[in-house]
Amino acid sequence: MIYLDNAGTTKVSAKAKEAMLPLLDEVYGNASSLHTAGQEAKTYLEEARSTMAKCLNAEAGEIFFTSGGTESDNWAIETACRYGKMRGKTHIITSAFEHHAVLHTLEEKEKQGFTVTYLPVYKEGIVHVADLKKAITDNTCLVTIMLANNEIGTIQPIKEMAKVCHERGVIFHTDAVQAVGHIGVDVKDLGVDMLSLSGHKFHGPKGVGALYVKKGVPLFNLMQGGAQEKNKRPGTENVAGIVAMATALNESLGEMEKVNKRLISMRDKLFDKLSTIPHSVINGSKSQRLPGNFNMSFEGIEGESLLLLLDDYGICASSGSACTSGSLDPSHVLLAIGLPHEVAHGSLRLTLSKYNTMEEINKVISAVPKVVSHLRKMSPVWDELEKGERKHVI
Ligand SMILES: *Cc1c(COP(=O)(O)O)cnc(C)c1O
Repeated sequence: MIYLDNAGTTKVSAKAKEAMLPLLDEVYGNASSLHTAGQEAKTYLEEARSTMAKCLNAEAGEIFFTSGGTESDNWAIETACRYGKMRGKTHIITSAFEHHAVLHTLEEKEKQGFTVTYLPVYKEGIVHVADLKKAITDNTCLVTIMLANNEIGTIQPIKEMAKVCHERGVIFHTDAVQAVGHIGVDVKDLGVDMLSLSGHKFHGPKGVGALYVKKGVPLFNLMQGGAQEKNKRPGTENVAGIVAMATALNESLGEMEKVNKRLISMRDKLFDKLSTIPHSVINGSKSQRLPGNFNMSFEGIEGESLLLLLDDYGICASSGSACTSGSLDPSHVLLAIGLPHEVAHGSLRLTLSKYNTMEEINKVISAVPKVVSHLRKMSPVWDELEKGERKHVI
């Protein structure tokens, strides 16, 4: 199997898995218990917190463990909205192509009386700082913009946007789930107030993540219960998952430069070779992009059919076409970068990890053109395009 859906989730690294084992076996105490077994677990938990903090250039007290990226995003938004409401501020700014963990949470906020401005991301898939400057008002309580997009991998000017927000006294949150463990993320340098991350996107386990909260930001509870995480996030800590996540992050930082060099060479080979398919387009900026993200559209095909046929070749890929999730709408990300519906439907996302090899990439480079031309032969739309009854849009 050639696994190229690493933006969806990743394999747990051998080191992360190994780090997890003692916590499932000898060190199974509840980290809140005062006895030796509990305190042993507590030591592992706090060590993991320090490791995470060091990897992000944060203080240990600024790291709050959660169940993953979705919870972290919800928590950050809820915090900024409650604080905003207390001060009579009810305006939020985000981008048009955030993850649903942000977009759907903001839809709920709109129902509660908040207004939301969605900044455009243009053809390149990058927010313009000038647009943020224009959109921000005295009523703005939160700006939330992702660090790297999960579908097209484009990297946003977070540092510049955080600066604009601070000049106006506005809280800035970034969903860095796709960035952490893949490119350098330094919370102090970025100047963000809150930052979301998730273990399973960088070879840690699923169901564990963290929210970085800068000292001084008033953090509200999402849930009520015990006194864990400084009284802010109740529930017995997932120590095994947390330790594995910290191990995976530390590991990824140590090998990042070497891994990224390989990923870029594999990704660029995919772009070079698959761009020769006629009527195709690269989605999003090619330069300001995560090393492991490839995303292209091919005119006249359906993404789902492409995925199913690639699966027959043993290739696990992803598409921006959302039919499989019960909706006929193509990806909001691809529409946000201005793709017409029919082109957005014919998209292919391949997201690489350190476990991929050039041999695998070569197999993909041989399979994709065959599959695309096979699908085009069967497509009534492609037939019309060929006969000139319909105009090519790419
Ligand atoms: C995966 C992802 C999330 C959700 O994280 P989970 O840990 O799966 O809840 C949020 N934002 C982005 C950008 C993601 O890629």
